Amino acid sequence: MIDSTLGRAGAVLALLLASAPALAAPAAPWVVKPEWVKADEAYLASDALAGRGSATPDEAKAAAWVASQFEQFGLVRAPGMSGYLQTATIVQPKLGGAPALGVGGQSVAGLTLLMAPAGEVRGRLVIATSDDPAALPAGDVIALASPKLPLIPMLMAARGHGAKLLLVRESAETKGILKQMGGAARIPGYLEGDAPESIALATLPPAEFDRLVQKPGQEVTLALPGMTATRSTTTNALGYLPGTDPEAGVLLLSAHVDHLGRRPDGTIMHGADDDASGVTAVLELARALAAGPRSRRGILFVCYGSEEMGGFGSAYFGAHPPVPLSKIALNIEFEMIGAQDPKLPRGALMVTGYERSNLAETLAAHGALVAPDPYPEQHFFERSDNYQLALKGVVAHTLSGWATTPVYHQPTDTIANLDLPFMTAAIQSLIEPVRWLAASDFQPKWNAGGQPSR
Ligand SMILES: [Zn+2]
Repeated sequence: MIDSTLGRAGAVLALLLASAPALAAPAAPWVVKPEWVKADEAYLASDALAGRGSATPDEAKAAAWVASQFEQFGLVRAPGMSGYLQTATIVQPKLGGAPALGVGGQSVAGLTLLMAPAGEVRGRLVIATSDDPAALPAGDVIALASPKLPLIPMLMAARGHGAKLLLVRESAETKGILKQMGGAARIPGYLEGDAPESIALATLPPAEFDRLVQKPGQEVTLALPGMTATRSTTTNALGYLPGTDPEAGVLLLSAHVDHLGRRPDGTIMHGADDDASGVTAVLELARALAAGPRSRRGILFVCYGSEEMGGFGSAYFGAHPPVPLSKIALNIEFEMIGAQDPKLPRGALMVTGYERSNLAETLAAHGALVAPDPYPEQHFFERSDNYQLALKGVVAHTLSGWATTPVYHQPTDTIANLDLPFMTAAIQSLIEPVRWLAASDFQPKWNAGGQPSR
């Protein structure tokens, strides 16, 4: 789960499968064995994987192990792929010196960067006086003069308008955000080949800010000296169970294999719940479904890299899917199913964005123990890999056990703090509903206003 502070030889294969006889025997009741769940967790959350840091060799090792499990269960390579792994390059810009703000050719002291783009900024100053994001004026450089502005919605609106720099008055809120980010400006990374982030967010002390808003129309420059970039590789693991009907679409079952790695002091962030538990769900569903009769629909099992850095593995998958996204009937992401939220009905998992589509209610009607998200204000729907697919139109939700667990992003997210019986029962409860989805021609639809747009 992402912190809230700021992813052809198929045609031949399909022909071969279409001519293969479907196995008619009914599926024997499958039992998810607690020792399998425990063994998956024991490796994924082990010291040997050192917290599976995003886009690190530890993440690659974890993804390779997931791929080897997929192969052992009998999953095949996804259509058009020559292996079970998909890799992508993440570019991370880094600032080498102090940023400098100039207004009308004069340098302005006291600038604090909260978010920086990958390059310099230049443009004319526009003053926004309203605190309504919908009323934000267009311009390259915008100073937000209203004292009660909602910062994040304003930033999103400015970004939507193509603004390059948003300047705000320093406040307890802006200082709090900087502290949450570890005291340093965030410079968003990006997938190689994609456009880097293009907006900066910065504060000025009240006196400097008040002088600034008296100078609309002046030319503003933001110099970002010594900008360099590092490149790292992130790895997705993919396995495929072909269906019998090439026209029936494909189900996408996913989780993220990465976590936070090690803290600077060496502490391993094991991420047993976030999200080794989701990977365990994907693995155990793969084991169960691969052992059963072949279903009508194909099923893609995917464990993404670099979710914690901003959903890079799933964004890459969404841009390079092994089957066209229009063929993906739905996506269910599993995140943090290692314990149950006391607010949920006993045994139930919550579905993020429950009411955005008719998927959750249909799953419930077919026996899945699922409930609406009790924390809509946390925007969990937007904070996991499902969102990258949802942005591209795929009906995509995340199932979670307890998204506000006290171990969230803490060193205490270890196997000792998992509720393994709950986890095992949760995975068990989804096997028949997923079998039903794979056998049916049910195509979930977004409800009115449910599909997100960035
Ligand atoms: Zn997380």
